[in-house]
Amino acid sequence: MNVLAIGAHPDDIEISCAGTLAKLVQAGHQVTICHASDGDKGHYRIPPEELIPIRQGEARQAGAIIGSEVISLGMRDGIILADHEGNRTIFIDLLCRVQPDMVITHAPNDYMPDHVAVNKLVFDTTFLATLPGASKLYPNAGKVPSLYYMDNLSGIDFQPTLYVDITETFATKAEMLKQHQSQLVWLKEHDNVDVLDMMETLGKFRGVQAGCKYAEGFIQHMAWTRPNAVRFPV
Ligand SMILES: [Zn+2]
Repeated sequence: MNVLAIGAHPDDIEISCAGTLAKLVQAGHQVTICHASDGDKGHYRIPPEELIPIRQGEARQAGAIIGSEVISLGMRDGIILADHEGNRTIFIDLLCRVQPDMVITHAPNDYMPDHVAVNKLVFDTTFLATLPGASKLYPNAGKVPSLYYMDNLSGIDFQPTLYVDITETFATKAEMLKQHQSQLVWLKEHDNVDVLDMMETLGKFRGVQAGCKYAEGFIQHMAWTRPNAVRFPV
């Protein structure tokens, strides 16, 4: 199976679903990680032009831990707009390039506008990418992929309908998140949170719910053509 995980920023995927991605890779699936924005505004002292290559490098290092390609869509923090033809084109090109069977992204009620916009862009373009001539660069997507939402930041207002036991890949997930050194600083200074501790706390909480040490929670988007008869593949 070809799996595409799309976050708004570098580190979103590592926080919310990297344990599952590591399991998918172990099970022999192809996993691609994408961030829409390069995270240019995620630091108080490093200016955007210096921060962008730093964050791209952190994201590549994190992906390399599980052997995943990391794609940046080159957008900017705070201005990811969903109802925007140019942004739709960028997402359609991504989907036509990767040809995913399954997509994981933010839930529609996560905590900040870039995440919400990425959710809308993914929902819209996973369908639109299948239309003839959808992309000028790649063949149209061969199918509407199944669509899963990863947990909200800190789990607020998110009731998983599916849990993945990540006990065996939790250490890998933590190692991937640690690659985002600039964000360990930013999230402490901007949000007063130790993001590694927050990630572990939520992993334990979802684990308690699912009867294992650590888990990640997901919600499958149920709309016509998106569900399939295949169980979540790990
Ligand atoms: Zn984010």
